[in-house]
Amino acid sequence: MQPGVQRSVQTLAAYASDPARSRGRRHPESEAPTRTAFQRDRDRVIHSTAFRRLVYKTQVFLNHEGDLFRTRLTHSLEVAQLGRSIARSLQLNEDLVEAIALAHDLGHTPFGHAGQDALNACMQALSPSVHGLDGGGFEHNLQSLRVVDELEERYPAFDGLNLCFETREGILKHCSRANAERLERLEPHGVAARFIHGGSPSLEAQLCNLADEIAYNAHDIDDGVRSGLLTLEQLDDVPLFRHYRQQAVTTHPSLSGRRLLFESIRLMLSDQVYDVIDHTRLQMGRHALVDADAPRRLPPLVAFSPGMRERSQVLKTFLLRNLYRHPQVMETTGRAQRVVSDLFERYMTAPQELPEAHGRSSQHARAVADYIAGMTDRFAIREHERLFGAAVFP
Ligand code: MG
Repeated sequence: MQPGVQRSVQTLAAYASDPARSRGRRHPESEAPTRTAFQRDRDRVIHSTAFRRLVYKTQVFLNHEGDLFRTRLTHSLEVAQLGRSIARSLQLNEDLVEAIALAHDLGHTPFGHAGQDALNACMQALSPSVHGLDGGGFEHNLQSLRVVDELEERYPAFDGLNLCFETREGILKHCSRANAERLERLEPHGVAARFIHGGSPSLEAQLCNLADEIAYNAHDIDDGVRSGLLTLEQLDDVPLFRHYRQQAVTTHPSLSGRRLLFESIRLMLSDQVYDVIDHTRLQMGRHALVDADAPRRLPPLVAFSPGMRERSQVLKTFLLRNLYRHPQVMETTGRAQRVVSDLFERYMTAPQELPEAHGRSSQHARAVADYIAGMTDRFAIREHERLFGAAVFP
C-alpha cells in the first residue's frame, strides 16, 4: 500500500538527525549563513575531486563497454534519490541522507570490486614493516572515509572535506575490528567506536545502506539485460521480478521489450520503497525514540519486512550467479585485476613513476594505494599502457 502523501516542506521527527545538534566537525568551523551543516556536507561532496571521478568508475560494466551502463556516479545519484524519497516519508533528515549517499562510494577503486580485491591483495601481501601502523589491506568503505578526512585537498586550514560526524558515520558502513581500533586511537569515541562497543549508526545512515541495495538490485537487472548477459526469460526464475513482470503485463497486455523491463523494474522499486517505509514505521513504533541517539542504542530499525528481505536475497543471489560471475564479466575482471596489480608493483619498486605529491610519503605503500584507488578506469588503463607498453583492454 502507498503510504501517506508526501509533504513539500520537510518536518523532522524527534528521532531524525538534527544539524543543530551535530556532534560537529574535526576542525571547528563557523556555521554557514544560508545552509545547515548537512546541506554544507552534501555540497562539499559534490564539489570534491573524488566525486567527479565517479563518472569514469565502474559499477559492474567497465566505463568503455557502453555509454548507458551505470557508473559509480549515476549509481550514487540513484541511491540519493531513493534515500531522500524514503527519508521524507519517515521524517528523517533528507540532507544527511543525500550527503551520505553521494559520498558512500567515493573510496572505490577503478574497475569496481575487481579493483578493490586486487589492491587489497597487493596491500595484504606486504610485510607489516612496510605498511607500518596503518593496518595494511585495502577496503573501499575505509577509503571513502579517508577521502573525505584526508585525501581531498581543497581548503586552506585542513586536509579533507571536514564533514560532520553524522556524515562520516554514515560513510563508514563496515569496519574490521583491527581498523576500528586503529581509528579509535586517532579519534577516541569517533565514527569507529560502534564497531568495537556495538550499537547502530543514525537512522539516516541505516537508510542509505538499504537504498544502496535497492538501487543496485534494480539497476543491475536493467544493465544486465541491456548488455545481453541476462534475458527477461531468465529473470522469470526470480519470484520477485516475475511478480512485477506479470503485474505489468496484466495492466498493459501489449507491453514488451525494454518498456516491459522498465515497467517491471519501476513496479519493483516502488514496492520495495513502500515495504521499507511500512516495516520501518512498524519497528520504530515499538520503541520510544526520543531523539536521534535512541536508535543508535538499538539494533538497526530501517529494514525490509521479513518477506521482502527473503525475496530480495533471492534476487541478489541470482545476480551474483548470473551477472557478477558471468564468464564475460569474469574475463574483464581478470584483466582489471592485472592492471591494478601491475601498477601497484611498478609504483612500489619505481617511486619516480608517481606524481611528486604522491611519491614523497613516508608511508609509501599507502600512498601508492591512495593513488591507484583515486584513478578512473580509463586513467588506470592509460597509465598501464604507458608503463607496460601492451594494451590490456585493446
Ligand atoms: Mg553503492
